[in-house]
Amino acid sequence: MPAHPAAPGPGALPGRRPPESAIVVGAGMVGLATAWHLQERGVEVTVVDRTGVAAGSSWGNAGWLTPGMAMPLADPSLWTYGPRALLDPDAALSVPFRWDAGLRAFLARFMRHATPGAWRRAMDALTPIAQASLDAYDELVAEGVHADTHPSRWVVAFENAKQVGPFAHELDGVAAAGQDVPLRKVPDGGPHLSPAVTSVWELGGQRYIEPGPFVQALAGAVIARGAKIVANAPVTGVRPARTGERGGVRVSVADHDEMAADVVVLATGAWLPRLARRFGVRTPVQAGRGYSFTVPVEGEPIDHPIYFPARRVACTPYQGRLRVAGTMEFRGPDEPLRQRRVEAIANSVRGLLRGVDLDDRADVWVGARPVTPDGLPLVGATAAPGVYVAGGHGMWGMVLGPATGRALAARIMTGSTPEEIRSFDPLR
Ligand SMILES: Cc1cc2nc3c(=O)[nH]c(=O)nc-3n(C[C@H](O)[C@H](O)[C@H](O)COP(=O)(O)OP(=O)(O)OC[C@H]3O[C@@H](n4cnc5c(N)ncnc54)[C@H](O)[C@@H]3O)c2cc1C
Repeated sequence: MPAHPAAPGPGALPGRRPPESAIVVGAGMVGLATAWHLQERGVEVTVVDRTGVAAGSSWGNAGWLTPGMAMPLADPSLWTYGPRALLDPDAALSVPFRWDAGLRAFLARFMRHATPGAWRRAMDALTPIAQASLDAYDELVAEGVHADTHPSRWVVAFENAKQVGPFAHELDGVAAAGQDVPLRKVPDGGPHLSPAVTSVWELGGQRYIEPGPFVQALAGAVIARGAKIVANAPVTGVRPARTGERGGVRVSVADHDEMAADVVVLATGAWLPRLARRFGVRTPVQAGRGYSFTVPVEGEPIDHPIYFPARRVACTPYQGRLRVAGTMEFRGPDEPLRQRRVEAIANSVRGLLRGVDLDDRADVWVGARPVTPDGLPLVGATAAPGVYVAGGHGMWGMVLGPATGRALAARIMTGSTPEEIRSFDPLR
C-alpha cells in the first residue's frame, strides 16, 4: 500500500488534480527513488525495466555517497589531459577512434564546458542537491529500506606532493560553492598502501554503500508498499493518451499490453534520449562507461574507501573484498565489456596497494554512466503533459539519486520545482 493517501503537499497548484498513478521506466537508483517518493505521496506506481532491478549503472559502481566530490566531469584540466589520453590506449579517459557524429557533437559540447566559469556555474547548480543527498538516504533507511549507509574516513592517496594540488583545488571549488569538505593530511593511510604512496590525506563527512544490495533493498521497499516491478520489459514508446483513452499517458512495452497511467517518469540512465528526445529533451546523454571488479585483501578487510585521484581509480569495501572501479569510456551503452580496460585499471594501481591481489578478480563489470555535456542532470517535466524525466547524473547518480527522487515527486505532485532540481530543466 502507498505510505500516505494522495497527498499533494505544500505548494500544490490550485485546481490541479495531482496524479494518482505513475509508470516509472527504469529500475536503477534514480527510477526506484522516484517510485518510492511518489508512493510516499500516495501514488500507485508500476516500475518497468528492460532487464530488472539495478541492471544498469546502479549495480557495480563504487557506491560513494560523497556529496563533497559531486562535481562536474568537464573541467579545465581536460584541455591538457584529454589529448594525452587520446594517444594512450590505457588512459582512464577512453574515446574510440571512429566516425560517430553523435559522439563528436557530444564531445564538442562537453569540451565547451571545460572552462573555470562553466565548472563553477555547474558546481553552484549541483550544490543544493548535494547538500540534501545524505539526508535523503537517511529518510529511506529510516522508513523501511533495509540497507545501510556507512559513514567512513576517506583515504586520498598520492604518489607525490605535486598530485595533491589539482585535487585540493577542486575541493576548494566545492567549498566555495557552499559545502563543507574537511580535507586534512595524515601521517599514513594504513597497511594496504605501498611505500609508493607518499602523501596521504583524509576527507571527512562522506559515506559509502554497497550499491547493488542497496538498490535491491530499495526495490524491496517499493514492492512492499504495493508497487509492481515488471522485469524483462523494454519500453519501446511513450505517448500522451488520446481523447477518450484512460490515463494521461500510454506506454508501449515489447511483448506486453500497452500500459496506462496518469504520468510516466523516464529514468533510463544512459539510454534516456531514446525515449525522451521526442518530448523536447535535446541535451545529449552519452554513455561514460566505467568498469569495476572485486579483489581479495590479506588479513582484515579494508573498512574505508581509498581514492587515487591521479590514477582516477576508486576503491570501496564490498562484501569483505575491495571493489576497484575506474575508467571513463565514451562508447555505446550496450557495447561488450573490453577486458583491456579491466587490465588497465588493475595495472594503474598495482604498485600502490599492498596485500591486495589485483589478479584474483571477481564481479568484473561494465556500466554506463549517463553523462551530459554540462555536467547537470535532467530532472523535471518535458514538453508533453504527464511525461517527466529523471537522469543524466553522470558520475554521481548514486549519491544524488534519492534526493532527485524526492524533489521530482514533489514537482510532479505540486507543480512547483524544489530548489534542488531548479537548474536541471530537461528542456534547457
Ligand atoms: C564505474 C562506475 C563507478 C561509479 N561510482 C559512483 C559512485 O561512487 N557514486 C555515485 O554517486 N555514482 C557513481 N557512478 C554513477 C552511477 O552509477 C550512475 O550515475 C547511476 O547509477 C545512474 O542511475 P540511473 O538510475 O539513472 O541509471 P541506471 O542505473 O543505468 O538505470 C537505468 C535503467 O533503465 C533501464 N532501461 C533502459 N532503457 C530501458 C527501456 N527502453 N525500457 C525499460 N527499461 C530501460 C535499464 O535496464 C536500467 O536498469 C558510477 C558509475 C560507474 C560506471
